[in-house]
Amino acid sequence: MARERLYLFDTTLRDGAQTNGVDFTLADKLTIAGMLDDLGIDYVEGGYPGANPTDTQFFCERRPLRCTFTAFGMTRRPGRSTSNDPGLAALLEAKADAICFVAKSWDYHVRVALETTPEENLASIRDSVRAAIAKGREVLLDCEHFFDGYKANPQFALACAKAAYDEGARWVVLCDTNGGALPHEVERIVGEVVKVIPGSHVGIHAHNDTEQAVANSLAAVRAGARQIQGTLNGLGERCGNANLVSIIPTLKLKPEFADRFDIGVSDAKLKTLAHASHTLDEMLNRAPNRHAPYVGESAFATKAGIHASAIMKDPATYEHVPPDTVGNRRKLLVSDQAGKSNVLAELDRIGIKVEKDDARITRLLDVVKEREAIGYAYEAADASFELLARRVLGTVPKFFDVTYFDVKVEQRSRTAEVSEMLTTAVVKVRIDGETLISAGEGNGPVNALDVALRKDLGKYQRYIEGLELTDYRVRILNGGTGAVTRVLIESQDETGERWTTIGVSPNIIDASFQALMDSIVYKLVKSGAPA
Ligand SMILES: [Zn+2]
Repeated sequence: MARERLYLFDTTLRDGAQTNGVDFTLADKLTIAGMLDDLGIDYVEGGYPGANPTDTQFFCERRPLRCTFTAFGMTRRPGRSTSNDPGLAALLEAKADAICFVAKSWDYHVRVALETTPEENLASIRDSVRAAIAKGREVLLDCEHFFDGYKANPQFALACAKAAYDEGARWVVLCDTNGGALPHEVERIVGEVVKVIPGSHVGIHAHNDTEQAVANSLAAVRAGARQIQGTLNGLGERCGNANLVSIIPTLKLKPEFADRFDIGVSDAKLKTLAHASHTLDEMLNRAPNRHAPYVGESAFATKAGIHASAIMKDPATYEHVPPDTVGNRRKLLVSDQAGKSNVLAELDRIGIKVEKDDARITRLLDVVKEREAIGYAYEAADASFELLARRVLGTVPKFFDVTYFDVKVEQRSRTAEVSEMLTTAVVKVRIDGETLISAGEGNGPVNALDVALRKDLGKYQRYIEGLELTDYRVRILNGGTGAVTRVLIESQDETGERWTTIGVSPNIIDASFQALMDSIVYKLVKSGAPA
């Protein structure tokens, strides 16, 4: 049986840009659009030309994309003609393949928010769709608050959708604008709509206010809708939009959908999904959500030893899909609860060859348990675990010694009211019998120490040039005799690989220093630097 085509519409750059704290530059928008295009998304909504300078600029020239590049905007204002509405004019001028209009479909909103009549709302939809088609654009209509509108007045909500379809709109998109609809309601209402408008012209735009945006999108598809709108990582205001990063693998890997539908994302591109998701987080300067379905670092992580030994025998025993299909990897957590099989599997992944009954494995497990008892957490620090394992198994070269460091934090008054904080660090490093001294300034003691330490590592300098600290987390643990500080540092290098290292000490500088050292040593090991 031939599979039906299901279309994906991404609104990360428009609805996603509404998120608190998200402010895309033009360069960001170009990068993200390119990434979505490469992934195989059918429609990329770039923004709202005329609403702000960035979006206007984004649409002032044709962008070299394979997808249908879409501009968003309002239908003509009530009481105006299409030729006398500057907002609509800007939208029609935008260099886009398609225009996605938003219009009211809830009679209550038409009355109260728009202060116009139902007839004028329908006329505005018809006129706007006609004007955009006359301009040669593909047209979509987002029916705002469709589900609430349908519950209140189904005839009117349907009339709005039908007005656009009859006028030639390619898609009528049913929006759950406040995110309050539930899957069974969505399935029922979409089922009613597709009796009037063919499902091949119906889309779903769900928000996540009851955490069912993904479920609602899938319910709409089950009922007949053939376009799904969403965003990368579920970005969007309030609780976010439907998360395409969860929807795409579900459509590709779950037989109910995979057997019936084709989407524009190939199997090969599906393997880049985790990377795309993390790249967006990086651009937003956010740490990726470890527990994100499919792509999170913990999505295929197993802690308990008994599960781990079953997974080693056959991964299908505990995994709902193979992790590499979405570009993720299986992770067997090494922790004080871990059995031998976790450690063996992790060593195998790292590439350390060791016999199953090697006594050093037991020794390694003991060290992990001892250190976790004083505050280390190796399941969160893969690189520190690798170094520990290599040390216990005796294979980490002694690259350099830090023989001295000193960190100074000063407050200096510039005027009576204004003072500034100055932080400097001095580090002495010994390499091949030679002592190198470096000083660094930073916005805080850890930063200054990092700057000084990485300023001059002699013959190792070239290996750490691309090293960058991407996240720094501090947690105070309350031990039996007093507070202990745990520091986790996430680093990244020029290849895009990320790793996490850990330090634990009653002193935050010492804990940070341990994590920094591990990060640098890990990078040197990984790069095959000579001892
Ligand atoms: Zn929305």
